[in-house]
Amino acid sequence: MLEDLFSVVRTRFNSDPSDDQDAQKRKKTDIPKGLIFKCPRCANNTFMDDLAANSKVCPKCGYHSRLTAAERLDITVDKGSFEEFDADMMSKNPIDFPDYEEKQQALREKTGLKDAVVCGRAKLRGEDIVIIVMDSNYMMASMGSVVGEKIARAFEYATLNRLPVIAFTASGGARMQEGIVSLMQMAKTSGAVGRHSAAGLLYITVMTDPTTGGVTASFASLGDIIIAEPKVLIGFAGRRVIEGTIRQRLPDDFQSAEFMLENGFVDMIVERKKLRRTLAHLLKLHKPYNGGAAQ
Ligand SMILES: [Zn+2]
Repeated sequence: MLEDLFSVVRTRFNSDPSDDQDAQKRKKTDIPKGLIFKCPRCANNTFMDDLAANSKVCPKCGYHSRLTAAERLDITVDKGSFEEFDADMMSKNPIDFPDYEEKQQALREKTGLKDAVVCGRAKLRGEDIVIIVMDSNYMMASMGSVVGEKIARAFEYATLNRLPVIAFTASGGARMQEGIVSLMQMAKTSGAVGRHSAAGLLYITVMTDPTTGGVTASFASLGDIIIAEPKVLIGFAGRRVIEGTIRQRLPDDFQSAEFMLENGFVDMIVERKKLRRTLAHLLKLHKPYNGGAAQ
């Protein structure tokens, strides 16, 4: 009590200009949650508007926060060029998993998505592409029957129309609510990638946070070129599961994009603000082989 009183007195007496800054800082943190973004890595507070203007990358430490599919499309493809495929496809409840339908309905209302992936055709700096974007806000972008089907169809469309594919992956893995049906999507998507590849067409993966489980173990790792955003989590099983199984401590940076680059699972790490430029460059570079010449 007495200490509190002293601290008030001290504050009033130490009235140098830095107090104004402190007051401003306090004011900033008084702003209701949702208007400011507290960086999980460096704890810096950024106004949401400023963060959005910086493609949701922390201006202080470069932390790449997760994007919705709409935000990703917005910063990646040419304005007004996106035409969505299978927008209304919705999954059933193949193994009668309790509350699955209700959970999906609530998520559809919350996110405005029908499932965890958005696929379509678009232009990127004038180049025609098929684009696949997973959204971790929808059941951690787990891959169930609809996610797998939409991805497979996007590849089939690209193969038929001789177009390159760019896939932004983010996933918690297989969707346990769909059991074995979910696991089958790994084979289905991989088969579709295989046919696209056999047709001599370009496929670029951009791994975003987090790319794990059955998605890493299938189409995400099959890109001709695999890009990752800085410091994203990439892996199959969780760290604790592996440590428990092999009874060994894993390196601290295990399953980071940087670790994957060092060990050859990722070809390059590209900051978000340079991604569009890099992708456009890669598309142009591979144009004789990506179908552009045959159209
Ligand atoms: Zn930060």
